[in-house]
Amino acid sequence: MTRFDVWGGAVIAGAVIVCFAAEHRRPLRPRSRPLGERLATNALMVALAALTLRLALLPAAVAVASAGERAGVGVLRWLALPPTAAAVLAFLLLDWTVYVWHRLNHRAPFLWRFHLVHHTDLDLDVSTAFRFHAGELLLSVAWRSAQILAIGVSPGPALVYEAALEAATAFHHSNWRLPLALERTLNRVLVTPRMHGIHHSIREAETNSNWSVIFSWWDRLHRTRCVGVPAQTLRIGLPAYRAPLGVLRLLALPFVRQRPAFTPR
Ligand SMILES: [Zn+2]
Repeated sequence: MTRFDVWGGAVIAGAVIVCFAAEHRRPLRPRSRPLGERLATNALMVALAALTLRLALLPAAVAVASAGERAGVGVLRWLALPPTAAAVLAFLLLDWTVYVWHRLNHRAPFLWRFHLVHHTDLDLDVSTAFRFHAGELLLSVAWRSAQILAIGVSPGPALVYEAALEAATAFHHSNWRLPLALERTLNRVLVTPRMHGIHHSIREAETNSNWSVIFSWWDRLHRTRCVGVPAQTLRIGLPAYRAPLGVLRLLALPFVRQRPAFTPR
């Protein structure tokens, strides 16, 4: 874990810095709120989420991966594949099951109570990327542990996937206007800012699409892909939450009476 703090931290920080600089040089969507107002809120939410990730989710993932390795459980171990094939398949299967988890977060009312906190941001940029309720990350510990055990992922590959997931999350939440042709090419493989922006649209049908995290293939596979909505016309957020919410409100949101997220006030 200490080694992950160095190389994983460098990969994630590098992705955040590049995306932050790029979205300021070449913004994709116009802002609806001042950046400073959102940065203050998002920075606190990100700090709590990062602590939960580092102190709960990552240690749990490593512990479960080590226990699975000792016990020899998991589909990929039972298949006894060559190491490279096993590593590639582990990465793909982790990403597919993270797609399933994201979709569940939108479909199961209890999980949505937590995940909607991420979707209440009124603009979308790299500061939104890690603005999650800490409770969502705690709930994901059980899912992530089950993924690692069932697939048969060792601690090293589990951490490599984690660093890639965080870097991809920074990238596809960013407000970085890539040349359209380049973005279309990238999007054949990866989730890109225009594609994920549609997932944060105020329109229900658009929010309920584009659940992939690293590879864009899962939305094609499950027929939940939605592209072609112009980024400049997107309204970001949820209809029931059109005013900016402070940190205490955001932290309380899962525990109070829920507004129907897609019915405008
Ligand atoms: Zn979502």
